[in-house]
Amino acid sequence: ESSDRSEKQVSGAEVIAQALKTQDVAYMFGIVGIPVTEIAVAAQKLGITYVGMRNEQAACYAASAIGYLTGRPGVCLVVSGPGLIHALGGMANANMNCWPLIVIGGSSERRQETMGAFQEFPQVEACRLYSKFSARPSSIECIPSIIEKAVRSSIYGRPGPCYVDIPADFVNFQVNVNSVKYVECCMPPPVSMAETSAVYMAASVIRNARQPLLIIGKGAAYAHAEEALRKLVEQCKLPFLPTPMGKGVIPDNHPNCVAAARSRALQFADVIVLFGARLNWILHFGLPPRYQPDVKFIQVDICAEELGNNVKPAVTLLGDINAITKQLLEQFDKTPWQYPPESSWWQTLREKMKINEAASKELASPKSLPMNYYTVFYHVQEQLSRDCFVVSEGANTMDIGRTVIQNYLPRHRLDAGTFGTMGVGLGFAIAAAIVAKDRNPGQRVICVEGDSAFGFSGMEVETVCRYNLPIIILVVNNNGIYQGFDADSWKEMAPPFCLLPNSHYEQVMTAFGGKGYFVQTPEELQKSLKQSLADTTKPSLINIMIEPQSARKTQDFHWLTRSNI
Ligand code: ADP
Ligand code: MG
Repeated sequence: ESSDRSEKQVSGAEVIAQALKTQDVAYMFGIVGIPVTEIAVAAQKLGITYVGMRNEQAACYAASAIGYLTGRPGVCLVVSGPGLIHALGGMANANMNCWPLIVIGGSSERRQETMGAFQEFPQVEACRLYSKFSARPSSIECIPSIIEKAVRSSIYGRPGPCYVDIPADFVNFQVNVNSVKYVECCMPPPVSMAETSAVYMAASVIRNARQPLLIIGKGAAYAHAEEALRKLVEQCKLPFLPTPMGKGVIPDNHPNCVAAARSRALQFADVIVLFGARLNWILHFGLPPRYQPDVKFIQVDICAEELGNNVKPAVTLLGDINAITKQLLEQFDKTPWQYPPESSWWQTLREKMKINEAASKELASPKSLPMNYYTVFYHVQEQLSRDCFVVSEGANTMDIGRTVIQNYLPRHRLDAGTFGTMGVGLGFAIAAAIVAKDRNPGQRVICVEGDSAFGFSGMEVETVCRYNLPIIILVVNNNGIYQGFDADSWKEMAPPFCLLPNSHYEQVMTAFGGKGYFVQTPEELQKSLKQSLADTTKPSLINIMIEPQSARKTQDFHWLTRSNI
């Protein structure tokens, strides 16, 4: 028996699959072709869920969402040259979002390198700009250690994408099974705590704040800091503001959530604690006029290089958000303190919230047709269950939708993110639906798309139908990018931002056997959404016609209104 085993051969493809399995990688998205088909087959055989997509870009978005949702990277498997290049968009997006991801790219045969081989391209170099680690194993025997390093690098420190290059001649080449040593599964990321003196200082700055604010970013969601953060908010009675994907870490309907007074809260806070949120464009760089010139920032982040970007922070807390929030809680346990609920700061925030909430209700109330964004989102919000995933992209659709559609659970909102990427929606929705299927069957995924955003990865509807994922896609259709025209005004000129008026996007879904609805009234919207939610066996697409010139409510600040917030 033992001599039998020593003669047993194993292919490069099988080694890759086994190495991934050993590193606890559970999901692979991709498109097969020369030279990676065998890798997908081998992975599937070992019980890794393989999802075949229609464009590598969408496959890469899906794989990256797996990393954010599960804390373990998903794999994006692509063919050489153009396949890998299509995936770069997904890698860049994951890199910007700080999400773990493994991209495995087939590449041309080594002996044809520099000879103009089929789809030859400098793939390792190309990926370097978008990844934390980019390498080609020097032999089949080296594959397991390179894959372990890629998986570990993707989740240790600030998470991000890693690339492993697999030359075509590795895939089917057979080696003796005993010559391959599988590296044990890497340990979970080590958890680091902040320096004790910095924690004291942070607690003291918070205690002395007149107008404090906590900002909860997607780093806090990724860190699973929901329980500790909620305790901090409730124990110290502090107002908090989620970033777009920070929504749901603490439920949006929590009384201390001041999202409805966002601009006001940012503008007048004197102490702001950032939990896994960067001071980039989403937070207006932390600079006046959106903030007080002397606002004190306390930055909590796992990445030392992030600390001090754009502002000089009052205190920096380097380490894991969950651990550091607990360190802060210890301070407030030792010497209990709470921010006075009757302060004028709370009054200011509450007043502004009331005004803003009333204004958006008002905007939702017109009974005239076509509907506007607010009317649509109010009707949608009414019917959604609290545990659904909300995926969203588009300009106005995402910006306005975010203010009306609520999140109650952490890591249940996925959107265009730090990079403002359009085309992520379908891939993200597919990833969320696959995770739901394995972990919480019956949980729904609602994908709220602008008509333009939908177009970027629209053919993934076939993927949705092929795997029969009961995703509900809402296309909020204004015939264009930002704004469109009605059919009559459109006729002669076709301006750059216009799309074909009255397009029947729902037929993309019916083409593949899903349910499609074309709706023009609130009643039709209510009815079709109700039917879609009731049918847990089929995906559906509701194409919602709205006023082509519909826009968001006027903002106090006119610059940066195209912002993601
Ligand atoms: P948002 O878009 O919600 O503002 P960002 O993507 O800008 O969030 O910021 C997320 C931050 O969270 C990144 O700077 C990242 O380094 C940090 N981060 C990720 N995981 C952790 C963790 N476990 N502990 C601390 N910080 C983390
Ligand atoms: Mg549009």
